[in-house]
Amino acid sequence: MIKDNIEFVEENILNACRKAGRERSEVTLIAVSKTKPVSDIRQAMDCGIRTFGENKVQEIRDKTEEITEPVNWHMIGHLQANKVKYLPGRVCMIHSVDNRKLADEIEKQFAKADTVIDVLIEVNMAGEDSKFGLTPEETPDFVKEISSLPHLNIRGLMTIAPYTEDAESNRIFFKGLRELKNKINSMDIPGVNMDTLSMGMTGDYQVAIEEGATFVRVGTGIFGERDYSKTV
Ligand SMILES: *Cc1c(COP(=O)(O)O)cnc(C)c1O
Repeated sequence: MIKDNIEFVEENILNACRKAGRERSEVTLIAVSKTKPVSDIRQAMDCGIRTFGENKVQEIRDKTEEITEPVNWHMIGHLQANKVKYLPGRVCMIHSVDNRKLADEIEKQFAKADTVIDVLIEVNMAGEDSKFGLTPEETPDFVKEISSLPHLNIRGLMTIAPYTEDAESNRIFFKGLRELKNKINSMDIPGVNMDTLSMGMTGDYQVAIEEGATFVRVGTGIFGERDYSKTV
């Protein structure tokens, strides 16, 4: 089933790339494995998936203990500063930087580990109260503010679009995130040249790819519905 799902998602990604005149290699599929067992992750690995997204630090710790093969783990969920210390050596990118305290703690912990971590700034494009992230208006100044932190490599922007049955209605937010990235690049902030847009989930990744996504984060579309009753 996971194999069929991945084939289906791959076909959709390919079609969206063709439609947008983009190369398939410009888009990385992040398989969002949160709440799912290691056996599911292994099935996805057997299909060639090497990039996984998780939203809980504890789950990243557990899963990276069990899966020792070289796969790329992305922290895509809301992150509390006091948990950052567990991430060096475990994740290759943090998608959810949205406040100074968190950025400072990432700097501190990754400096200690003597590594530079790729980060994305989370932007709440639709202004939903339920979501984390900066407003688009706040984002350029925030990028400028944290751009001098030497152990953060600001690669780009991430957004979680509203849940909707109509993917087209999220196009405006994906287009907006792309334009915001271009705007920030045009500011010529020293050390900042963003090349990454993390946007698009199961319901809307094709539209996101048409608007320039370089990472799409697909969970349900690969692993099926999540059962939160089994998790802490
Ligand atoms: C859970 C999650 C996803 C995947 O959502 P699906 O709709 O299951 O594809 C993507 N991004 C983030 C930040 C998530 O927390």
